[in-house]
Amino acid sequence: MKTYKVAVIGGDGIGPEVTASAVKVLKKAGDKCGFAFEFTECDAGGCSIDKYGVPLTEQTLDICKSSDAVLLGAVGGPKWDGVDASIRPERALLGLRSGLGLYSNLRPALMFKELAAASPLKNVESIDILIVRELTGGIYFGKHGRAELSETLSDGSVKGLTAYDTEEYSTAEITRILKEGFRYAQGRNKKLTLVDKANVLESSRLWREIASELAPSYPDVTLDYLYVDNCSMQLINRPSTFDVIVTSNMFGDILSDEAGMITGSIGMLPSASLGSPGTPGMYEPVHGSAPDIAGTGKANPLATILSASMLLRWSLGESEASDLIEKAVRDTLADGYRTVDIKGGSSDITIVDTEGMTAAVLNRI
Ligand code: NAD
Repeated sequence: MKTYKVAVIGGDGIGPEVTASAVKVLKKAGDKCGFAFEFTECDAGGCSIDKYGVPLTEQTLDICKSSDAVLLGAVGGPKWDGVDASIRPERALLGLRSGLGLYSNLRPALMFKELAAASPLKNVESIDILIVRELTGGIYFGKHGRAELSETLSDGSVKGLTAYDTEEYSTAEITRILKEGFRYAQGRNKKLTLVDKANVLESSRLWREIASELAPSYPDVTLDYLYVDNCSMQLINRPSTFDVIVTSNMFGDILSDEAGMITGSIGMLPSASLGSPGTPGMYEPVHGSAPDIAGTGKANPLATILSASMLLRWSLGESEASDLIEKAVRDTLADGYRTVDIKGGSSDITIVDTEGMTAAVLNRI
């Protein structure tokens, strides 16, 4: 029987609870479709700092590199707020992204019609947006630091300590992610929106130039441009009109949380981080470690279960098993099962905890 190797990083807070749910769902989908898994659990984030003094060890990175895919819960929490910035739990994410060469972050924002009542927007019929975020460049990875400046301001005060973070993108990095954006748009509703700040930023102007050069190679895709500030308004104003959004690391980070929230709950949103074909992708919920509800059974496991479904489709090519999970999630919601975060204003529902929601999905696979 075909066996896939999956590295499982539970991480901190609710991370281990939701990855445990997703592992059960993956096993069941594999049983149904005739393949198996070899899961290897490893540490990253705060739990790794506690054990090894660093958020990401070489051993964890090596296990991930030699796997077919990585399933991650979440890292971080108040316990590690005081640690030195160079070893904060979130550094594990940057280390995994750069170590695995994950340059493309896919964040679907899909509103299930059963959860329309949980959306903070009124009268929205459908939201189905794919945000393609560049993941290994831009301001999070650019030159940063502090300097003492002796120049004076107009009021005569000395500038003093200055901190800087640099937004820098190369032609190759931009071309690589834009091509992904065009290809995803071709497979969906054929609309691609490049979101930037080209009225101010030189790097954004380079993104636009390259996008307009690439556009003729994708004649079936309609390309348009939006400034990021306008996009943040239009996501609220007309969310149903978006198809694929492609954007830089920082703008994608912010807009995907906004797009996620308008679909209902952050507990529903999956994500995939992908590198070159043939290398392991990493799959994780968009939410964090939710320390406020860790251990209470209130964590919604669906974002991680849907991330597992993406793992099957994008890294293992097992689309039948992926479809099975997505349908089981839809059926579970249609049958009225809700964790507290998605109860919204709905009536005739059954409130369940993490285990109850996982069992409901398993029963429907
Ligand atoms: P968060 O996403 O952890 O929580 C925000 C709110 O959403 C909380 O009220 C939480 O209870 C709720 N929530 C989140 N996931 C939920 C789920 N599955 N079911 C039900 N409710 C859910 O964001 P935060 O509070 O800003 O961050 C907490 C910690 O997580 C911080 O240390 C932060 O750095 C870290 N974080 C990690 C990641 C990651 O690992 N990728 C991402 C974001 C934040």
